[in-house]
Amino acid sequence: MKICVLPGDGIGPEIMAEAVRVLQALDLKFELEEALLGGAAVDASGDPYPEATRKLARAADAVLLGAVGGPKWDSLPREQRPERGLLGIRKDLGLFANLRPAILYPELANASTLKPEIVAGLDILIVRELTGDIYFGQPRGIENRNGERYGFNTMHYTESEIRRIGRVAFEAARKRNKRLCSVDKMNVLETTQLWRDVMTELAPEYPDVELSHMLVDNAAMQLVRAPKQFDVMVTGNMFGDILSDEASMLTGSIGMLPSASLDANNKGLYEPSHGSAPDIAGKGVANPLATILSAAMMLRYTFNREDAASRIEDAVKKVLAQGYRTGDIFEPGATKVGTKQMGDAVLAAL
Ligand code: NAD
Repeated sequence: MKICVLPGDGIGPEIMAEAVRVLQALDLKFELEEALLGGAAVDASGDPYPEATRKLARAADAVLLGAVGGPKWDSLPREQRPERGLLGIRKDLGLFANLRPAILYPELANASTLKPEIVAGLDILIVRELTGDIYFGQPRGIENRNGERYGFNTMHYTESEIRRIGRVAFEAARKRNKRLCSVDKMNVLETTQLWRDVMTELAPEYPDVELSHMLVDNAAMQLVRAPKQFDVMVTGNMFGDILSDEASMLTGSIGMLPSASLDANNKGLYEPSHGSAPDIAGKGVANPLATILSAAMMLRYTFNREDAASRIEDAVKKVLAQGYRTGDIFEPGATKVGTKQMGDAVLAAL
């Protein structure tokens, strides 16, 4: 189990230190190697995704990333910005499947803007296709036509692109409650009619998973009306972009949300959904749980170690039940802890 560890910038190194401690406590045989990405790499070499990092990331089975970016690098030319490093590694590793769970632990139900009874205990997973769709379609542009400006983009998917993201979603549903909802707009868009057809064709290969379909406008509505009806949702790049942000905000706590981006062989890049939080970097107050939960996703999806993944997730649940909170999820009556103390609490719960 070869893991490339990229702490990155801002709070990255602080939260990564805790995730690494948790991994090391599991008594599994990991090979952990650290490298630079983002602003830290720009400072060292002028390149946000340097060759040494590329080599390590390619050779590893999984990459665990903190976060990149910060005001220090915002005025650099675009190709030297830390975010370029992130786009670079995602592209280089061919990561086409983005998995974003939205979990709201009952203890944190007050963090959501929705009523606690609607969201308490929420546990859904959005699988978003990441490399196709209207975001990458050609032709695209803004042109002058018939005396006015004309903007256009092209939505497209091949059936093999749909099939490979479909397989990731069916497999993910298998590891959860075995219900998959495919989201499209087949009543208006031919591309998504094909999406629905291919998903339906795949279903017989996964007889243990119950497949349903929903139009994207209804899905957006259902996510705020009754989000707990969903287990796994799979959708294209643009709909997924919007729905995964909507789903994550149901939880109201950005410091808690992990994510995974996978290639066709379940090699993955695992990272918290939040950024580098420069406003609190270096203060020892950042919430390390999203990164720790990203490590759990890595064990589940790349290494097929459901047992170890659940151990970490159970430890996080226990710590929340014990009342430990970092500043971002703090409520009166809870025990306020810093990054390292939160890591200590997770280790103790493990
Ligand atoms: P952010 O997620 O870094 O921060 C938003 C707010 O949430 C801040 O108030 C921050 O303090 C808080 N926050 C975030 N993570 C937290 C944690 N673990 N614990 C406690 N509080 C936390 O988003 P932003 O402020 O828009 O961006 C800051 C920098 O991060 C920018 O340079 C941006 O480009 C970069 N960024 C990187 C990634 C990534 O690496 N994947 C993603 C988003 C933003």
